Amino acid sequence: MSNNSSRISGFHKLSVSERVQRVLQYAGLPAGELEPLFLNTGNLPAALADQLIENVVGTMNIPLGVATNLLIDGRDYLVPMATEESSVVAAVCNAARQCYDSGGFITSMSGTQMIAQVQLVGVPDPANARLAILEHIDDIRRLCDACDPVLVKLGGGFRDLEVRLIEAASGTMVVTHLIVDTRDAMGANAVNTMAETLAPHIESWAGGRVRLRILSNLADRRLARARCVWPVDAIGGADVRDGMIQAYEFAQMDPYRAATHNKGIMNGVTAVVLATGNDTRAIEAGAHAYAARRGWYSSLTHWEVTREGHLAGSIEIPMAVGLVGGATRLHPMAGACLKIMRIESAEQLARVIAAVGLAQNFAALKVLATEGVQKGHMSLHSQNIALMAGAQGDEIARVAHRLVELGTVRIDVAERELRALRAGG
Ligand code: NAD
Repeated sequence: MSNNSSRISGFHKLSVSERVQRVLQYAGLPAGELEPLFLNTGNLPAALADQLIENVVGTMNIPLGVATNLLIDGRDYLVPMATEESSVVAAVCNAARQCYDSGGFITSMSGTQMIAQVQLVGVPDPANARLAILEHIDDIRRLCDACDPVLVKLGGGFRDLEVRLIEAASGTMVVTHLIVDTRDAMGANAVNTMAETLAPHIESWAGGRVRLRILSNLADRRLARARCVWPVDAIGGADVRDGMIQAYEFAQMDPYRAATHNKGIMNGVTAVVLATGNDTRAIEAGAHAYAARRGWYSSLTHWEVTREGHLAGSIEIPMAVGLVGGATRLHPMAGACLKIMRIESAEQLARVIAAVGLAQNFAALKVLATEGVQKGHMSLHSQNIALMAGAQGDEIARVAHRLVELGTVRIDVAERELRALRAGG
């Protein structure tokens, strides 16, 4: 095997600094220059990072901003957002400012229930098997609740049962849904344990063979909802409003547009999910699956004109976030972000995130329906380009300003302008 084979036996057993040395050696990079970059783990201690995931060699810092102006259910919030993308935080602040005086956002939640799926295959009489499973609801409740007495004590636990028949190429599958209230936990581990515990019982009641036992990220019993009315005068008049409605209708009808429309919503949603140590992929998978629930991929938000002519927006989005479990309790920064928001329950957090998603969508629709994204985006983006060109200190703002002035935010232009600046031009 060559020296730079990726087959490194026992890599996971090395310490963080030993792993860094091995990786730099592998890549033929000088240790002196890069080692400190890897070993500076910022606000996540290396020992903790090493417990959270495998084969840790460092951490990846992402800027944390705070969205202001958010009035949600009559309470003011400062909302921490972790994102590498410029304009995201500013967009939420702008959108929230334009509805602050008219009352801000109203939110609600459908519940904190998760679904675990148990897949049963090879059942000769699926309709019969379905009823046999449903008949055991009391046994299932007892078995599930016994898996997590802590959750039950906190008011959570098994709530309901559904059994679905799914026609597949290999035959009819009997799929049991365990519906479990996971309270302030996202609940993946809790419901997965229940599904695994139940599997042999389901086989004995219904025949066939259990294959998968895992939660569904389509958390449609955990929907966070937010709505808001933006006064037509506060947003620039009826033409802006109508342009925004048409932009929304475009997303509603066309998946090419809906993908970008919803990506914009997730800019805000994912940033708060990440800042609070929650599972960004779980939320994203749930949101996109929910957006396709009608059989075609569509907008997560809804926009319309009120009787008075104002712009009303609403969002409904699965939001399986927790305050316990995963990195939420472990990452010191996640804890600090929850404290800044004065969050007391997973439901409250989910509702705030829905409001942020709606605000983000408002900002995107407004800018798209009026000046287009590039103008605002480019003035922030120009700073990144200036940095990439090597600008330092006050050179960054000066080069960025020059790029915007020239109307050409490009790396080659930034390099030229930086050279000119340094040459005293
Ligand atoms: P967990 O099991 O670490 O914590 C939840 C448990 O904490 C509960 O079951 C309960 O026993 C206890 N608890 C204490 N106080 C509680 C309270 N106030 N409310 C509710 N429970 C309380 O975490 P989890 O939430 O079950 O799992 C989350 C983790 O699972 C995340 O890291 C996620 O990334 C990961 N995960 C996700 C998937 C997926 O999304 N498909 C699959 C597997 C694992």
